Amino acid sequence: MHLLYGYPNIIILDIWVGGAGRQSLAGPGQHRCGKIGRIATLCTGQGRFMKSRWSDQDASRCAGELALRVYTSRLLGAEPSLVLHGGGNTSVKSSISNLFGEEERVIHVKGSGWDLETIEPAGFSPCRMQPLLALARLETLSDPQMAAELRKSLTDVSAPSPSVEAILHAILPARFVDHTHADSILTMTNSPDGERRVRELFGERLVYIPYVMPGFKLARLCAELYPAQVRRSTVGMLLLKHGLFTFGESAKESYERMIELVSLAEGYLSKRGAWTPVSEELRQEGASASASSTLRADVAALRKAVSDAAGSPMILSTHTDPEALAFATRADVQEISQQGPATPDHVLRTKRVPLVGRDVQAYASAYREYFRERGNASLTMLDPAPRVVLDPELGLVTIGRTAKEAAIVEDIYRHTMQIISGATALGGWEALPAQDIFDVEYWDLEQAKLGKSGSVPALIGEVAVVTGAASGIGKACVASLMSRGAAVIGLDRSASVTSLYRRKDYLGLACDVTSEPEISRALEEGVRSFGGLDMLILNAGIFPPSAPVSALSSDTWRKTMSVNLDANLVLLRESHPLLKLSPRGGRVVIIGSKNVPAPGPGAAAYSASKAALQQLARVVALEWGGDRIRVNTIHPNAVFDTGLWTAEVLAARAASYGLSVEEYKTNNVLKVEVTSRDVGELAAELCGPTFAKTTGAQIPLDGGTVRVI
Ligand SMILES: [Zn+2]
Repeated sequence: MHLLYGYPNIIILDIWVGGAGRQSLAGPGQHRCGKIGRIATLCTGQGRFMKSRWSDQDASRCAGELALRVYTSRLLGAEPSLVLHGGGNTSVKSSISNLFGEEERVIHVKGSGWDLETIEPAGFSPCRMQPLLALARLETLSDPQMAAELRKSLTDVSAPSPSVEAILHAILPARFVDHTHADSILTMTNSPDGERRVRELFGERLVYIPYVMPGFKLARLCAELYPAQVRRSTVGMLLLKHGLFTFGESAKESYERMIELVSLAEGYLSKRGAWTPVSEELRQEGASASASSTLRADVAALRKAVSDAAGSPMILSTHTDPEALAFATRADVQEISQQGPATPDHVLRTKRVPLVGRDVQAYASAYREYFRERGNASLTMLDPAPRVVLDPELGLVTIGRTAKEAAIVEDIYRHTMQIISGATALGGWEALPAQDIFDVEYWDLEQAKLGKSGSVPALIGEVAVVTGAASGIGKACVASLMSRGAAVIGLDRSASVTSLYRRKDYLGLACDVTSEPEISRALEEGVRSFGGLDMLILNAGIFPPSAPVSALSSDTWRKTMSVNLDANLVLLRESHPLLKLSPRGGRVVIIGSKNVPAPGPGAAAYSASKAALQQLARVVALEWGGDRIRVNTIHPNAVFDTGLWTAEVLAARAASYGLSVEEYKTNNVLKVEVTSRDVGELAAELCGPTFAKTTGAQIPLDGGTVRVI
């Protein structure tokens, strides 16, 4: 998650950390560029715009121009209102001496797949300048041909593929070239009279290029227009409705020109009431303010419809903070949201327009029509499901195949809302025509990527709840589900569950499963984060100290029943409406016990609670089959790497069988130890396609128990 949103009221302190061990082109003993750490301090006040983050001290630790190129690329990447998630690109030109001792001009340009915020020297593709300049003189070249030629120009065959804008970077004479999709510039150019406004504001400091498809066509046009328009005072190039280039002879010069021009644009907008930067504070406020309302059934129903349209389960992330609701409830939301994205490459994440309201079928039909009108037989239609939903009650809902994708869509759309609102305040929001957006969405370079993503994890796009997730079998279930692509909501009494993973696809919630309000709140929060529930793993349980029935206290009995049995009834009942809406059909996995078929002396409360739970599961399997929900049980035994098995309990149980602890651990037919991981893997498999036609099953995971076989 971004901590900072280019908010002018935030002062940002960059810390340069030498990243020993990182791959770098710097020689031994030279500084290697590491990660930029960020500390933010809020302060109040008006009228401050984007500021340079350049630090002479940090820069002095960068050895060579490539290291400086990495440094200022990261400074750009650290401003989400300049570039987001892989957007923008940078380059530096230099000379090298090749194998034959000849001087050769090369350009290091951002490689595709790298993000400016985290780029390293290895993320820059070294291309020979001469073939790039020759390509720029061709009349036509298809983008796939261009991509192939760019790869051929590399001086290092193991380098990443150069950015599709590599030729454009090469034709600009300056040593350093920076390119961003700054929010403020897009707000200006995507408004009525946008070109007049930017020409008035920047004059001859920029060269102006009308919109044209990125790739070869754009490079070709710039090769023509740049030399014709360039003046002594020119420091950059503005691509209308696309973004801004700046350049300079040093990394600092090019970077600071970018910041200066962008802050000029911010000031221009601010004066006209058209600049309200994305606010992290408002987002936080909404996160806590709205946690009590109940909208989980609505969200899960929306997710079902979206997943059906997409043809696979999708993750939905719901945001009802003031900023999101304010946009979603604007009287003109229908009009302003249906024009198009802020800059063309956002279409690959957000689709051209959001769904306003919840009629997913109508959205999908309109998408098919959009494709039918513009596509042709050589193109493969992408799924017609929306990636952004604006709804008066749900606010902003963002959608992806994974939680990470949904979070990227959120970041992009929050900036889009700000840009649209700003341009509307300037007099109107004018996105590119649908055909231009379609051309980027169905770019042959993008079409070529389809189907090349390798094997898809079995549970991708699906959501699981695991109880007792902080340790032992529960923790193992979380790991096994996540390794198969699922997003997981981990519940546990222990607060350590909240920090089990720091990932977008994990939500850890401290929750006492014997409290109905806490279960309700956890499901609410889980559904807001991921959109619904597909899998419920009932694992939380207690194992009271060994005691014969003649000495078993009523308190122990009741407590055991309340955690091992009653809590699971509530979890099942409350999850049922969500599981019913699972795109592939819901799944419940009960972590039972060998004690169900083969109880042991001294464990009456535990054995009886698990047996009752098993009976509950069998009834649930019968009742919910019609809702396509499968309910299966694992009966593990002798899993000793769990919280239940303290040394004390272990010794007592071993003694009650007249065995040593070691004998007790492998006291099964196969003489094997059973681990938490074994149980987690089986639980995840039970949720997967192999068991798609199995319900009501009880599967032992115990190395074979003589008394059961
Ligand atoms: Zn661009």
